[in-house]
Amino acid sequence: MSVRVVARIRPLLEKELDKDIIVRPDCAEDGKPNTIIKIPSPKNEAEEFSFAFNAVYDQSTSQETLFTSEVQPHLKSLFLGYDVTIFAYGVTGTGKTHTMRGGLKLAERGVIPRLLSGVFRRGKKIAKDTEGNTTVKVSLSYYEIYNDKVFDLLEPPEKRTPSGLPLRAEANGRTVVAGLSERACEDLRDFEKMYIESNNNRVTASTKLNAHSSRSHAILRVKVTQISENVIRESTVSAIDLAGSEDNRRTDNGKERLVESAAINKSLFVLSQCIDAISRGDKRIPYRESKMTRILSLGQNNGITVMILNLAPLRSYHLDTLSSLNVSSRAKRIEVREIENEVVFKQFPRSFSSNAVSRQPLRPLA
Ligand code: ADP
Ligand code: MG
Repeated sequence: MSVRVVARIRPLLEKELDKDIIVRPDCAEDGKPNTIIKIPSPKNEAEEFSFAFNAVYDQSTSQETLFTSEVQPHLKSLFLGYDVTIFAYGVTGTGKTHTMRGGLKLAERGVIPRLLSGVFRRGKKIAKDTEGNTTVKVSLSYYEIYNDKVFDLLEPPEKRTPSGLPLRAEANGRTVVAGLSERACEDLRDFEKMYIESNNNRVTASTKLNAHSSRSHAILRVKVTQISENVIRESTVSAIDLAGSEDNRRTDNGKERLVESAAINKSLFVLSQCIDAISRGDKRIPYRESKMTRILSLGQNNGITVMILNLAPLRSYHLDTLSSLNVSSRAKRIEVREIENEVVFKQFPRSFSSNAVSRQPLRPLA
């Protein structure tokens, strides 16, 4: 089981160009790739906190670079039978959906369409290389977890029951969502049609509930089945656009929002504990403590987990950014041995403008 925790800082949007930038990437040593995020203390601007990651992607990082560096390398493992899980974590408005889904233009496509494209390409190659002796089948499930209830996104919202789909423990110890649909998917066009339709289902359903889709976790699971003469190999890759990690209580005290907020906080807390435990190499991973981690069997199999922490560099996100950094960079304590992961206090100039942000191009990962 391995876990990588990386950070991605989004660029400023057009309407934010005059705003104050307070998050900046840094490297541990001159000439090395960025692995550190620096941010001032909210109480004392003269103090700076540092957080270490496996990699830090600055605002100039393209969708292609992120995919090529953090996701593509795991496609091989997927076809060797490992389960791969990719999370986008962060405050609402920091780029989770952009990272996972992305835009419609080719260059703007996110991790998910690129992943599917890679899966189909590799599947075709395997079939060709084995002269048709291995058949590769791809199928999809897509669901959301809202207020700790599971809803199928491949089904129209009218078919939803208020309590959502139940979980069921299988004989092999795995937890499955009972009644979750699974659709065969032949090619990228097939996938895109399904994906667009399902995302519309998600929006319609949340509008009905007077909620927002940023308050649910959306989980796409791609199952790859390789069938050859005497072996069937099955593995999955899950791509998850998590609910916003902001403290909803601070901004909205409505009762419904409180229920949502409690459910989101709990599941994100359990997730961070699981990531933490996996990266420490613990035997016991507390994955049973939330629905999402239970369904994903996080840490229960020989898998690969990538957590992408999305960050907006603006001052208006200061407290929420700090809390998401605190949650996600803890996981790095073990892997980044050469870097202290404790909060580092350092003096740095008071005025901290966008000029201070490193514009260094990202170096390829070793
Ligand atoms: P989240 O899903 O975390 O709430 P979004 O993905 O919706 O955030 O991003 C918020 C806004 O920022 C959107 O307008 C999105 O297009 C833009 N954005 C996010 N990341 C990037 C990026 N890397 N490059 C360009 N625009 C981005
Ligand atoms: Mg989003």
